Amino acid sequence: MALTKELKEKLISPFDTSEIKFKPTAIKDGKALALPYIDARTVLDRLDEIIGSENWQDEYDVVSSNQVICKLTIHGTTKSDAGEASTEDKEPLKSAVSDALKRAAVKFGIGRYLYRSPKVWYRFDDKKGEFIDKPILKGKSDEDHLIKTENRNNNVNAHTAISECAVCRDKITNRVAIFSKKYYQKPLCMKCQNLAIKELEDS
Ligand SMILES: [Zn+2]
Repeated sequence: MALTKELKEKLISPFDTSEIKFKPTAIKDGKALALPYIDARTVLDRLDEIIGSENWQDEYDVVSSNQVICKLTIHGTTKSDAGEASTEDKEPLKSAVSDALKRAAVKFGIGRYLYRSPKVWYRFDDKKGEFIDKPILKGKSDEDHLIKTENRNNNVNAHTAISECAVCRDKITNRVAIFSKKYYQKPLCMKCQNLAIKELEDS
């Protein structure tokens, strides 16, 4: 099986907001610039979910104690990128591996929209080392764009307005319906989407 357009689209689709974390950078005057990112774990889950664990491989070349190159192969297509960790990192090799994997994955478009999203300043507690206000993903992310387009068409708020699952008739938000319609051609709740994936894999 090849890396089809459909699979590529699923790979690059936005992550659930609960998967998105924010790293504080450029901390000054009680504020920090919030850099959105995802864990390597989230990338692995995406690959397993969309591609299937038997259809992708990762390989690592250790360049130094804190520099690694990841070769990521999906359905026979390989892309590679280098990852790096701070020398102060407690587990520099592990962090470099995570970084390299995420960078190689971005070359396939996985999570690329996060790096394109505008960086926003938030109030930051220097002593606790955490944001006072919870950062949210802003601007022209793929997800926002998709929702805005659908809003224009439907003239509704996609986050809160309600649709229903075409299979089990459970209530779902329009946001879920939009993504489902994109990938499954009909509005499905998360449970029925998962069943649809299994059916595709089995057929
Ligand atoms: Zn359902």
